[in-house]
Amino acid sequence: MEHRNFEEFVSYAGYLINGKWYPRVTSIISIKAKPALLRFYGEAKNYSAAQSITDKSATQGTKIHNAIEAILKNEALTVDPEIKPAVQAFNDFAQLHKLRLDGGAIEKRIWSPKHCFAGTVDVLAELDDEFGVLDIKTSSGIWRDYNLQTAAYLGALQEDEPWEGIPKKELKSRWILRLDQQQSCLICGAKKRNKGGNAKIRGGIQSCFHEWSDEVGEWELKKLDNFESDFEAFLAAKRLWEWENENYLKQLNYF
Ligand SMILES: [Zn+2]
Repeated sequence: MEHRNFEEFVSYAGYLINGKWYPRVTSIISIKAKPALLRFYGEAKNYSAAQSITDKSATQGTKIHNAIEAILKNEALTVDPEIKPAVQAFNDFAQLHKLRLDGGAIEKRIWSPKHCFAGTVDVLAELDDEFGVLDIKTSSGIWRDYNLQTAAYLGALQEDEPWEGIPKKELKSRWILRLDQQQSCLICGAKKRNKGGNAKIRGGIQSCFHEWSDEVGEWELKKLDNFESDFEAFLAAKRLWEWENENYLKQLNYF
């Protein structure tokens, strides 16, 4: 992400924790090229149309995250009809994989004093009898970047910072849960994804006069292996990010 000035960089690219500034994991990872994003911008009508889709998708994603937070905390919840299918998919997933908070946390701010970075973990919980980091995505796929992000979180959590109540030694697993909702054509089976007000049709028969079903939620779980390799790659990305932002970081006395 490009920052127009120092003030913007300080507030968007990092968190101030106990008087010390830590760069955000998501900002660091933005240094990595994203070919899918290039294609998305290329296919959009223009830059502001692409931005509008991105913003709407982000709002939808936030709504889904908030609903999940309420579900896991057993709080009263009125689900926005717009995201109901995805929330239903989450409930199905949680039941099948025995998701339990069990001493874990939601939207937990974590940081690494050793490597100097910080982030917010979506869910720390038990899944299929293993305890670990669960990151929830509403993207159209599970991208490699998520390996770096979750490795950073797990790496920080394995440090000595006293994370209240988190059973550190058992923290080994990383999962990505992707939640989505789509319509399907009752005639040809094509799939239609409406994320951010941008309808995208995949598969089926092009000449079909599609008759669309209601939106149906779907979930996809991926367990990530090779933590050491992912964490090493994250630290390498971080080094490049530091190089890119050297001038701002010098002003922050970061080095
Ligand atoms: Zn059709």
